[in-house]
Parts: sequence; C-alpha cells; structure tokens
Amino acid sequence: MTKLLPKLFALLLILPSGMLAAQAAPPTSHDIELTLSPASGAIEIRDRVVVAGRDRFVFILAPWIAIDRVTLDGTAVSAQRQDRGYVVELPDSGRHEIRFELKGRLPVRGTGQAAPAHGSSGSDGTYLPAGDAWIPHDWSGPVEYRLAVRVPANQRAVATGKLVTESTEDDTYLATFEAGQAGEPPSLFAGPYQVNERRVNGLRLRTYFHADLVGMADTYLDAAANYIQRYDNVIGAYPYDDFHVISAPLPVGLGFPNLTYVGRQVIPLPFMRGRSLAHEVLHNWWGNGVAVDYADGNWAEGLTTFMADYALEQDKGEAAARSMRIRWLRDYAALPADRDQPARAFKSKHHQASQVIGYNKVAFVFHMLTLEIGQPAFDAGLRLFWERHRYGVAGWSELQAAFEQSAGRELDWFFRQWLDRRGAPRLNLGAHRVEQLEDGFRTSVEILQPVSGYRFRLPVLLQTVDGHERHEITVSENLTRVEWVTSSKPRSLHFDPDSDLFRLLQRDETPPILRDVTLNPKTVTMIGSTDTEFDRVARDLAARLMDVEARFETLDLRRGIDLPLLLITTSDDLAPQLAQLKLERPTELAALGTSAAAWTARLESGAPVLVISADDAATLQTLLRPLPHYGGQSYVLFEAGRAASRGIWPVTRGPLYLDLGGS
Ligand SMILES: [Zn+2]
Repeated sequence: MTKLLPKLFALLLILPSGMLAAQAAPPTSHDIELTLSPASGAIEIRDRVVVAGRDRFVFILAPWIAIDRVTLDGTAVSAQRQDRGYVVELPDSGRHEIRFELKGRLPVRGTGQAAPAHGSSGSDGTYLPAGDAWIPHDWSGPVEYRLAVRVPANQRAVATGKLVTESTEDDTYLATFEAGQAGEPPSLFAGPYQVNERRVNGLRLRTYFHADLVGMADTYLDAAANYIQRYDNVIGAYPYDDFHVISAPLPVGLGFPNLTYVGRQVIPLPFMRGRSLAHEVLHNWWGNGVAVDYADGNWAEGLTTFMADYALEQDKGEAAARSMRIRWLRDYAALPADRDQPARAFKSKHHQASQVIGYNKVAFVFHMLTLEIGQPAFDAGLRLFWERHRYGVAGWSELQAAFEQSAGRELDWFFRQWLDRRGAPRLNLGAHRVEQLEDGFRTSVEILQPVSGYRFRLPVLLQTVDGHERHEITVSENLTRVEWVTSSKPRSLHFDPDSDLFRLLQRDETPPILRDVTLNPKTVTMIGSTDTEFDRVARDLAARLMDVEARFETLDLRRGIDLPLLLITTSDDLAPQLAQLKLERPTELAALGTSAAAWTARLESGAPVLVISADDAATLQTLLRPLPHYGGQSYVLFEAGRAASRGIWPVTRGPLYLDLGGS
C-alpha cells in the first residue's frame, strides 16, 4: 500500500479545487421555475437553492439578469457584489435554503447575426446554455435540478434532464425536467417546434423541429435510435432517459447532456444525420456521461472522433478507413512545426490547428492502441473506463489505467510518446540487398528513424513473384536492420502500406491540400486583380480561409517565391499569372468549365500555392461560406456557389516503397 501513496498524493494535487469541494459537500440542488416570452426575451426565474458544507454561497449571474429578492432560510437578505459575481454569507456550513427571484431580458437576436456563444431569444428560437449562468451558479461542483418552464402555447420548451411532465393550459405550455444525477446546470431551448417522439428500450427520443423540417423527423429518430443502440452495445447503457434533436435558428452544432442542438439549415444535409449525429450521440458517453478533467487535457473529442466519425468509415470498408487515416496524416503534415502541440495540451477546438491534434491525432492514437493491445482488450478497457467514471470526471490518466488493466500490461511508454511529445516519428529506408541463397532469397533492408525515442509496430508488405506476405516489425532505434528469407524472388517491399502509423509524411508523399497554405502563418496573400470590388471580396475570403491573420502583399510573381502563396484572381487574369509562376492549370481540372475554382500546387521552390479564381466579384462572393470547409482537399471546383467536384491529388508510392526489381 505504501508504494501507492506518492501517486495518490500527486493525483490529489492536480485535481481542480472545485472537485475537492464537490467531494466534501453534497451537490448544490436547484428547484427552478422559469417563465419565458420568446418574442421579447422577457424572463422570470424563481430558484430555490439548497446548499450544504460551506459558509458562503459565491455565484455568478448573466449580466442581463437582475436580482429582485433573496431570502436565506425564509429571511430576506442581500447578495453582495464581489469580483465578477455575488456572495450570500451563510451562518454556518449546515444545510441552507436560498430563494432567488430574478428578472431579466434575454438579448433578442437581430437579423443576420452570426453564431453567438451566448444565449439569445427570438420567436424562431430561444437558446439558454448552462454556461450563461442564467441561474445563480457557483461552478464549484456538480448540481442537481428540477426545472419547470412556461412558454406561450405556440412554443415548446426543452431542457437537459429527464422530461417528467408536460401540459398545455389555455395559452401556456408547461414542461418539467429533472436531473437527479449530479452534473452541469441546465441548458434550455425553446421554439415554435413540432415534436415527434419515439420510445426505444425505455428511452424517450424526440425531435423538436421547425415546421419545415418535420418531414425529416422519422429519419432522425431512426438514426438516433441506431447510434444509441450501437454505443450501448460497445460501451455500456446510455446514461440518460431521453435524447432530443433540436432545431436551432443559429448556425451551430452543439452537444449537451441528452440532446443536440443543430442549425436548421444543417438538419436536411446528409452528413448531419450521418457522421455528425453519431458524433453528438456518442458525446453522451464521452464528454457528458464521463466529463473531461481538463487539467489533464481533453481525451473526449479524439475518442468520439475515433468511435463515431472513423468507425462509420470503417463500416464502409478498410479502404475508406485508410483514406480517413491518410487525410489525418495529410492534415498533420500541413501543420507548421511551430503550431504543433502535444496531444495532452489540447483542451478545446479554437482553430483548425487544434483540431488536427485534438481530434485527428488523438483518434489516430486510439487506432494505434487498438493495434497495440488488440480489439478485445481495447473494447474491455473502454467498458471498464465507463463503469468506473460514469457520471464522474476523468482524464487521460484514468483512461490509461483502464487500458493497462484490460491489456494486462504497462502502457506508460505508449501514452507518453503519443500524448506528451509534440511531433511525430519520421521514417526513411537505408541500404537494401537481395541475395540469392541455395533454396531461396534473402532480402535485407535498413529502416532509419531520425527522431529518437519512439517505439512502434511497423507493418510491412513483401511482394514476391508468387504472392505477398505481411509482416510486422517493432522499430525503437534510430537504425533497424531487418531481413526476410523467401522461397520465391522478391519484387517489392512496402513499409506501412496501409498508413497505420502516425508519422510525419515526407514531401513527396504529400500532394498539397488547401490547409498547406491556410494553416501556415508564413503564407502571403496576393490579389491578382485591380478591380476594387473583386479586391474587397478577395480580402474577405482570404480572412475567412486563413487560420491565422492574412498577410496581403503585391508580389512580382516572376521572381521565384519561396513562401506559401495564396493567389486570388479573376479567371481572365489567371493564365498570365500562372505563366509567371511557371505553373499550369492541372490537367485534371482543365476539362471542367467552372465559374470558380480553388486548387493547390507546388512552386519551383517547393512552397505550396493555393490558386483561387472566379469569373467576377459576385462569383467569388459565393465561395465565402463553402470554401473554408474544404481545407483537406487538393482542389474544389464550384458551379453556382456549390462544390461540383473536389479531390486530393493522387499519392505517389513514396519513399517507404522499395522496388526490388524482381520480375
Ligand atoms: Zn465533438
């Protein structure tokens, strides 16, 4: 037992202070009654808060809410302003009841407002996320709540938590929600929704859709039921009583406990009820069912990407799964070294660079973990992690412990090298030799790993004149010599033929994609047209495309450019500018007569270039919204503002392929 003590002590030290308080005190409980007038944003809230185990209640409140009245155990008191919040002093650390009467006016959405992080109201929908602190919240630990909401009868309100009652009386719709399992405070949604419901295995599944979307309700309920069943089987029982898909008037796609809030424009799109819905459903296990201990990094996005987005590709076949892995490697290769970070440093997605690590690299690490310990141990580790930490908070360390237990061995080296280091292994092949023996052939080859300290399994495909053999070797040194004896003549050796290893691809393995230009802070943007309206739209487009601030310059294209280049120009100006860059429009694109195109190439210096051309300013304008979504592509062709064709330039066989000349 004494051996464990130093580790336990270290664990306690890194726990956020809130968790210690949460363990010491019972969860704060809220009994909330809320009346909302969506059109005006007017809101009235009564919240009966029960606290214990503390001698003051320190809380924050949204700036648009005013405190009308506070009572402490039945006696009127005042909440004192403190820092950015308030405090109510308590007589002792026993159990106390604080009643709040609050009033406010939720900001009403203006027309054309972009996705706000905060709550807003409007007759087409009200959004009140927990993070807004629309009830007095102290953030010191989990809460339990009961929430009764009143809205006009032509609206429906829905919140996180179990729907326990609902009724319509005269001109009012009333619904009550309960969260008995301590977790985050409630998030509330309302709108002129039509509700469709299905009961599956005791769960209540609902869509809250705007009228024009009701035709999609069955499709969504089917898909949600399937995904819930799927993750039930793999991980353990769905942790809530309800699951809802709610149509949002905002351009969002957000996951909350037992519901997802999705932009109404996005709901009809196939990717939403496919991969995106699976991803949001799975967040009920990873991120909500087990909350992330952010002090130890965020494992939940990568695990969700692996078990939702990636697993759906695996369903289509190994080729699709491999393509997704290659895309992740491709994105990683486009990330400039100074924007790289260790996977454990990822907390949340602020820009594309963090997605490349926190979603993609982490998902790739889970792929490698599956290969390292085998699928049965991987699945058992997940179930163990779920059983241990359901309704709790967990970090990478807890995940590692669960996999170590299921695999029956120590995996610290694995998690350290993939989570704590920035960068990735690189591989090269050194000398090779084929010798004829009396009864066969001996093939020997050197594998060079210039970056020290990585240990990994490396699959090898050995092709002979009679067929192929698959091998696997372990690489841990800077130089690894391997040899195989085969009875028939060897033809070729291909290391990592299916891209199972997270590594830094070499330049000749990486035909450029849009992100090679848009992620790089060194990129210069040149607008190749003198038309002022075109120039204005082009600047707007560059700002949206670039993951860092766009740098505009006027360059002499004939003078050899050695920085990544974003060139935005009119179709008429394109040909002479390409000639100056010594580039040709790729033959793959020549056949399609489109009004706008974006495509990548390499300049003579090796620097990537992204060329965007459009017939005129109005056509260019139609790219503003769609083009930023195609960062992983090598080219996108647009017709009337829609992507008519897109793709990645074909990958060459690359430096890990060795032609042994046997025929
Ligand atoms: Zn996610």
